[in-house]
Amino acid sequence: MDATAAIRRAVELIHHGARIVAFTGAGFSTASGIPDFRSAEGGLWSKIDPMEVASLSAFRFTPERFYDWARPLAARLSAAEPNPAHFALRALERTGREVTVITQNIDNLHQKAGSSRVIEIHGSFRTLICTGCRRRFDTETEIEPRLLEMRIPLCPHCRSILKPGATLFGEDLPRDSWQAAAAACRECDVMIVAGTALEVYPAAELPEIAVRNRAAVISVNISPTPLEPRASVAVRGRVEHVLPTIAAEVKALG
Ligand code: ZN
Repeated sequence: MDATAAIRRAVELIHHGARIVAFTGAGFSTASGIPDFRSAEGGLWSKIDPMEVASLSAFRFTPERFYDWARPLAARLSAAEPNPAHFALRALERTGREVTVITQNIDNLHQKAGSSRVIEIHGSFRTLICTGCRRRFDTETEIEPRLLEMRIPLCPHCRSILKPGATLFGEDLPRDSWQAAAAACRECDVMIVAGTALEVYPAAELPEIAVRNRAAVISVNISPTPLEPRASVAVRGRVEHVLPTIAAEVKALG
């Protein structure tokens, strides 16, 4: 099936769907200037092995080094802007469908684009969580960016060390988010899996839930993924090109 026919098929499936899940990964944000650190050209990460520094044990044992690495990353994520792929999901929501975005990204770009239902299965860098009293702090509010400026951010209430709300290597996924994501995959009519190579477990299991529950599954990715053979349709291309086209055609059908 060529790309035009694949897009037409994807539009038909979404047109007949009421509950849509969009599952997104690193490829969704590369057009916003956030490199995929698993890819060769991940400039932000190339000097340092993220598996080592972004791990739970690095955070525990060398928190100062961890924050020297995390601080510029948090600033970069905070400055990034959504790209046309993010806005396409918002446009699908505006057609009156229930669109739940499940993202592996920690960059807040779906929310910035205006999507109203976003589940962050790997958490977010926007929040800091106290390892003592479990209070949560938003780093993008007026007062709390100062917490990130500390060499090692400490809780203003109990002085315990604060951990970013993003899931670190070696750390379990946030349970509530995972359960909400699994439920959305069980209940959807159509699942769009876009900008993810499906290399990270358990995240890569989510499309399998939709396949088992006989949802239509649309794969959109620049390169082949393990899901493609079982997808209802696979569109090979950049998400920031493919998704705006799909969203515009779904809107035109009403
Ligand atoms: Zn505390």
